Amino acid sequence: MSENNHFIAAAIDGPAGAGKSTIARIAAKELGFIYIDTGAMYRSIGLACLKSNIDVNDAEAVKSILPQTEISIVFKDGEQHILLNGKDVSDEIRTEKVSMSASSVSAIPAVRSFLLELQRSFAKENNVIMDGRDIGTVVLPDAQVKIFLTASPESRARRRTDQLAEKGIEADYKAVLEDIIKRDYNDTHRETAPLKAADDAVLVDTTELTLEQSIAAISQIIKEKL
Ligand code: C5P
Repeated sequence: MSENNHFIAAAIDGPAGAGKSTIARIAAKELGFIYIDTGAMYRSIGLACLKSNIDVNDAEAVKSILPQTEISIVFKDGEQHILLNGKDVSDEIRTEKVSMSASSVSAIPAVRSFLLELQRSFAKENNVIMDGRDIGTVVLPDAQVKIFLTASPESRARRRTDQLAEKGIEADYKAVLEDIIKRDYNDTHRETAPLKAADDAVLVDTTELTLEQSIAAISQIIKEKL
């Protein structure tokens, strides 16, 4: 990791819908870093389970499909695309059903260790902004920049509903809010790599910030730390 190489890593963690991916993607472009969305990897495993009719709460069943599950990342025009067994599932993983499945499979230690090396491999060979739940605490504990990005559940649900609508996916605000609260609970209460701010993370609350203000705040923190 960072102590073994000369690349720079910025870890952005926080709850669902805090704007991590939008902000991290734009900040990465500005800085010339690659952006890695680790949530997409958990979502792809959630999707693989749904496709194979695997109960996402049955750890043994989920574990059994991992050897036949190949997750890879490719970049097209600088954007991350995620492939599940060779098929681009970048859009298919964005439904609420897949969100909930991702939340369940992410509590399974075998799933987390299955993805860990893939996640770390990007930081070995690139300047990277990586977002997730445990990047600053577990995946890249030596990251030079650690940010914990949060916002109220209501504003996160509003943004997520709008984001889905932009992609043509119809979603009910109340249902999205309920899912966010449930996912927050799952993510903060699981035993393995729960969602929490690293001791050395900078906290940013975007509830009262516009997207532009949030991007400016994050870019500023990263630039200051570099
Ligand atoms: O970030 P996103 O909402 O796409 O993540 C989907 C789910 O994957 C989260 O609710 C969380 O349970 C899980 N996740 C995780 N660790 C990460 C990234 C995502 O547990 N580093």
